[in-house]
Amino acid sequence: MDAARVVVVGSYNQDYAWRIDVAPHAGETRRGDSFLSAPGGKGMNQAIACARQGVPTAFVGALGDDAAGRGARELAKAEGIDAHWLARDDAATGSACIVVEGSGQNRIIVALGANERLDAGFVRAQADTFARSRVLLAQLENNIDATRAAFELATAHRLVRVLNPAPVHAQLDAALLANVDILTPNETEFALLLERIAGERVDAASLAQRSDDELHALARKLGVASVVLTLGAQGCFVSHGEDDLRGDASTHYRVGAQAVDAIDTTGAGDAFSGAIAAGLLRFADRPFRDIVVHANRCAALSTEQRGAADAMPDFEAVIARFG
Ligand code: ADP
Repeated sequence: MDAARVVVVGSYNQDYAWRIDVAPHAGETRRGDSFLSAPGGKGMNQAIACARQGVPTAFVGALGDDAAGRGARELAKAEGIDAHWLARDDAATGSACIVVEGSGQNRIIVALGANERLDAGFVRAQADTFARSRVLLAQLENNIDATRAAFELATAHRLVRVLNPAPVHAQLDAALLANVDILTPNETEFALLLERIAGERVDAASLAQRSDDELHALARKLGVASVVLTLGAQGCFVSHGEDDLRGDASTHYRVGAQAVDAIDTTGAGDAFSGAIAAGLLRFADRPFRDIVVHANRCAALSTEQRGAADAMPDFEAVIARFG
């Protein structure tokens, strides 16, 4: 039996990023200043964040039959990730076109391609991988049926089930959330889910200023045992149901952000969720707060590097920086 591990069911996107003084108008062609192609996709970013914490990580995803897909396979190997790819010949590997203007403003087009063709049957066929895992981590950049299948399989194998609800999917419903143990929304996703699930309208921008008791009462409306709301430069907020505090001393609390020299917060949420999943194994005997503190440090450190997947810090770097 190999080591207990995390299985990530998620997306791979190839990012294509251009920098240009001002983006072209319709019908116009302009020269850009620079171009960079880099790996991305919330699923693979989080798998890399998790694997770099020294935790054996498996990945289930879909790729097109193209150069980006071949790059994804190489990347997973180089990161030591045990990847199970569904090869699609009817869709391109997921891609993101990112245009960043001199002002810093950006425009992004995402074509999820093969990620949306990850079928439920392929996920169910990975039962052996689930049987060898202790934690499931998923996001919402795939076909929702595949995500549902992942949570059903994780429930059958008694895994700890973690969902980063990003980006909120039109078909995400209370039934899927009922199969989730730990939810890690950012402020926008939290507000969208509250409206969707509880019919409660809140202003996402006001969340960080609300009292802890207010945030806890809101989080409890989502019907998930533990909610970890990420608050960007304000850190994060944890809310547990009364039934299971995951070893913590209180049902709800905040963890302030680490002071860092943030230059690029792309992928900070991915670093956070990947590190939560890894922490559930690395710090299995410790209170949940210790896992959150570590994830908060990983995410903070990821903002000091440009890019997403490339910016994920490893365990040693986090310890060297924060002790
Ligand atoms: P997302 O990237 O999904 O929008 P957030 O912006 O909430 O997520 O960031 C996720 C986590 O990253 C935060 O909870 C925090 O731990 C860390 N983080 C983000 N921005 C900063 C920052 N400027 N300084 C320190 N930590 C940060």
